Amino acid sequence: MKVRCAICGKEEEINKVHKDYKKLMANPQAVYICQVCNFKLSSQASRDNAVKGKN
Ligand SMILES: [Zn+2]
Repeated sequence: MKVRCAICGKEEEINKVHKDYKKLMANPQAVYICQVCNFKLSSQASRDNAVKGKN
């Protein structure tokens, strides 16, 4: 199944072992985010949490 990252627009081919495969099969409108962007988002989120934790 071909999916497009909602953030960077990169097209990727995913198969049934991908963690989001079932979600995307069930709902083709579901947002797909590639691993690179996922990583950026999660590192951004943990930075934000760290900042909040200090305050
Ligand atoms: Zn991406």
